Amino acid sequence: MTGSASGIGAAVYRRLRRSGAQVIGVDVVEGDIVADLSHPEGRRHAIEAVAGRCGGRLDGAVVCAGLGPQVQPLSVLPSVNYFGALEVLDGLLPLLELGEAPAAVAIASNSAGITPADATLLERLLAGDEEGARAAASGLDGATVYGTGKLALTRALRRRAGPWGERGVRLNAVAPGPVDTPLLAGGLEDPVLGPLIEALPVPLGRRATPDEIAAAVGVLLDPAHGFVHGSVLFVDGGTDALLRPDAL
Ligand code: NAD
Repeated sequence: MTGSASGIGAAVYRRLRRSGAQVIGVDVVEGDIVADLSHPEGRRHAIEAVAGRCGGRLDGAVVCAGLGPQVQPLSVLPSVNYFGALEVLDGLLPLLELGEAPAAVAIASNSAGITPADATLLERLLAGDEEGARAAASGLDGATVYGTGKLALTRALRRRAGPWGERGVRLNAVAPGPVDTPLLAGGLEDPVLGPLIEALPVPLGRRATPDEIAAAVGVLLDPAHGFVHGSVLFVDGGTDALLRPDAL
């Protein structure tokens, strides 16, 4: 799993360890494997290091590593949140294929449906054009880059339902709303993003804890839910349903 050093990823790591699973945490700060997923060499290093430690197969993979809309320069956001998630997932697929009832989960966001997307950035992300996406991101605001990246990630995951299903590996997304983590704290401190985050209506009237998101990840990894594939599980206190009740 990636992003194991903080927030949601740290909660997932703890939860999986508690369940008795053998977990390999990847993060740029500290982890079982230290890797910087913001560039292709770092992703390759992460995949190779996991392959070297997992005994040739994986039963699960969770990609949590990510940056918030407040990060500078904004060009790094597509690299970590989109390419850093998808390239790791795709790189681990051969190991997952050999696992027992294998399943993978990515942390998307409810911002994918709420924030108006930038068409150029979306197109470049889905085309796999990292340099083009980085260039497009530089001219936009953080909320748009973040939300467009999460929309592209969600679509890219759904587009994999066919090929991953054929290879016997379930792939799903969790789409959280605001979760109390350092990433959210950074957004709240930002003079532009803070008021936008605060203004987002949450029917349940609070933010999530990282453990609540980890619990949803646990559901999607659990072989008991073996027919859940290609799904996006909103864990957002009802915000997406409130703002987009007729989206389906
Ligand atoms: P966090 O900042 O607490 O944790 C993110 C982790 O990712 C950190 O450990 C960090 O070191 C790691 N990371 C960042 N850049 C990296 C890189 N280049 N290479 C490797 N690791 C890197 O944040 P969080 O809130 O736990 O976020 C986890 C995921 O959840 C992110 O994808 C985020 O977009 C998503 N998310 C968060 C919220 C929220 O409100 N917190 C809401 C929706 C979605």
